[in-house]
Amino acid sequence: MGQNDVLFERAQKTIPGGVNSPVRAFRQVGGTPRFVTRAKGPYFWDAEDKRYIDLIMSWGPMIVGHAHPEVVEAVQRAAETSFSYGAPTEGEIELAERLCELMPSVEQVRMVSSGTEATMSALRLARGHTGRDLIIKFEGCYHGHADSLLVKAGSGLLTFADSTQNAPSSGGVPHDLVKHTLVLPYNDVAALEEVFKNQGDHIAAVILEPIAGNMNLIQPASEFLGAMRSLTAKHGAVLIYDEVMTGFRVALGGAQSLQGITPDLTCLGKVMGGGMPMAAFGGKKEIMSKLAPLGNVYQAGTLSGNPVAVASGLKTLEIISRAGFYECLTAQTEKLMAGLKQAADKAHIPFAVDSVGGMFGFYFASKVPTSFEEVTKTNIDAFKKFFHAMLDEGVYLAPSAYEAGFTSIAHDNEVVAAIITAAEKAFKRM
Ligand SMILES: *Cc1c(COP(=O)(O)O)cnc(C)c1O
Repeated sequence: MGQNDVLFERAQKTIPGGVNSPVRAFRQVGGTPRFVTRAKGPYFWDAEDKRYIDLIMSWGPMIVGHAHPEVVEAVQRAAETSFSYGAPTEGEIELAERLCELMPSVEQVRMVSSGTEATMSALRLARGHTGRDLIIKFEGCYHGHADSLLVKAGSGLLTFADSTQNAPSSGGVPHDLVKHTLVLPYNDVAALEEVFKNQGDHIAAVILEPIAGNMNLIQPASEFLGAMRSLTAKHGAVLIYDEVMTGFRVALGGAQSLQGITPDLTCLGKVMGGGMPMAAFGGKKEIMSKLAPLGNVYQAGTLSGNPVAVASGLKTLEIISRAGFYECLTAQTEKLMAGLKQAADKAHIPFAVDSVGGMFGFYFASKVPTSFEEVTKTNIDAFKKFFHAMLDEGVYLAPSAYEAGFTSIAHDNEVVAAIITAAEKAFKRM
């Protein structure tokens, strides 16, 4: 038994399933999760001291590479003056100003500690602002694990749950709550129009992943986005862009900057904390001013705006704002996807790829899917084989066919070439 197996067995005694977040458990692909001991740049090492090229990067946050010296220094400096005060700091103002600058739709922003908190709070705010209960989400989109949002949800829910029923994707979520959540297929303009026609004046909010990354990677059609923006505006519903994954990942201004859409509220997380527990939601001042202490929509957090997390976030935002960062990140990711596609073609394996900025999807299918339904029809068995062959070769992919992948600025030519070589071997073995 290797050290990873030893640790996994020990972990399962005191931690349910041995992990603190379900997808880490390798349930879809089988085998033993790797226990990480350290990471640097594009690599991490496991408990057996095997090195892997990381293509998850903590599920997105580590966009400047693991343990970037400038971020480490900023965090160390912040830590020396204590970790938390429960009182405001100047760093929070700086971070808020920076976020508002980078995303002009965000006029005011409130910091929280996780993406789940961001979406949960944004929904409460949208409901408080409109005085309506109904929300619309899309099949396969994941917005964290708040009760109202665990309906036909993506990510781990998609990997584990029998999420094809018209019911909560999780136990412990009351039907009474879920009845206020309408779920529509992604990219389906007609379904959206129909719902607004029938119930438009009861809809508090539409929430979506503007580029879906929790059912593999699925891009929205521009007509879909356009219809959503005009229907929500016409009916006084709040449009919530959940950019927890895409914010600062697909472009410096997030998916909204690529799509030319101005949402009413935006949720952020992952990259904005640079790997520390940090997230935020923000948007129109008119809506944000309904939050306590100004308004009657309550929201709070002991560790919100945590100074160490703020330091990590500010430094990460500084690095990604430097000239050429996204051009380089995007080019490297495209190079990687083109290489994987070529390797699969050579082995005559049906394979499709897509990427936006530093986020990518690959599919064991003859074309890139556009909906949740199409994703579930890709070849999951082929994915499992590929996953394990790549793991053997020292490349760590997301342990589920329903997750996007992530690169960092540290994934240079040498790293990309190594991944492609590993993939050539892996495809051959299939
Ligand atoms: C990761 C993610 C969340 C949840 O964020 P946590 O920090 O894990 O709570 C919400 N929405 C999207 C789109 C995400 O990718």
